[in-house]
Amino acid sequence: MAVTVLGSIHIDLYIKVDRLPEIGETIVGSGFTILPGGKGANQAVGCGRLGEETYMIGRIGMEFSDLILRNFRDNKVITDSIIIDEHYPTGVAFIILHEKTKENMIIIDPGAGKRISNLDIDRADNEIDSSKIVLLQLEIPLEANLYMCKKAKFKGKTVILNPAPARILPEDMFHYIDIITPNRVETYQLTGVAVKDLSTAKEAGERLIQKGVNTVIITLGSYGSVLVTASGALYYPAFSVEVIDTTGAGDAFNAGLAVALSRGMDIEEALVWANAAAALKLTKLGAQTGLPYLDELLDFLKKHSKYKGKTI
Ligand code: ADP
Repeated sequence: MAVTVLGSIHIDLYIKVDRLPEIGETIVGSGFTILPGGKGANQAVGCGRLGEETYMIGRIGMEFSDLILRNFRDNKVITDSIIIDEHYPTGVAFIILHEKTKENMIIIDPGAGKRISNLDIDRADNEIDSSKIVLLQLEIPLEANLYMCKKAKFKGKTVILNPAPARILPEDMFHYIDIITPNRVETYQLTGVAVKDLSTAKEAGERLIQKGVNTVIITLGSYGSVLVTASGALYYPAFSVEVIDTTGAGDAFNAGLAVALSRGMDIEEALVWANAAAALKLTKLGAQTGLPYLDELLDFLKKHSKYKGKTI
């Protein structure tokens, strides 16, 4: 089948510094780099690289539009439902990165992404119809996400929400979500439960199920992830890999999950794909440039054929 991703498409403008500036100060940086980013785009590229037919719905401005569209096509993402807005700029993230401490300061302007409308989503009806999975994040207006959740659910699609960055959600939205994939910070924001260990992760998952979600997957960084459904909870430890760059681990995780489910796997097997895709991403630099390809993932899975979830 296929995956439709609705979400943000940004350009990341990186600059390296050897110290962060004070207010009002001008300092000289180096290594200025322009890279495609945005959580929606990252997850769509993640799905495309894993070989699944992938449709991206979103809005960009004129700036960098050639670069963005070419990058999607290079990664096998179908761009027919990306609208180029003539009045608003492409969303950007200014990322100031401290070379030694790896601390950063990030400022995002979602630009045209703030104007994604219900009509934009309606125009992509055919793409949604031919998809099995609809994948969402929270870098675009909540109204558009809620509209997509309702539409996708009505059409019988599996709705995955990666609730990042952390935001409060309207209570009725939970009823239209099949799978939610918060990290620790987002879990706290959504449930008020501080996840400290497996039992608090399970407790937070149960709260989200009470709110109306079918399946909860809480990601725990280097600790792995926890799957909670009405029938119980499973713990998937993180794969042990040489970590080069942790940015985009969550995006790779969601792409792996969406593709596995789109290919017809059950949720337990899909969790193996998700954790493996995230682990492979960590071994490479860049939130998007480091996303794994299908052959890398299949190789990795062959080496870890005994990996599975453990009952909590
Ligand atoms: P986010 O990037 O959204 O904050 P997490 O930090 O929870 O999400 O990471 C998502 C997934 O990436 C984890 O569930 C795990 O599978 C994998 N992961 C993250 N950090 C590591 C690590 N240090 N080693 C192995 N896997 C990791």
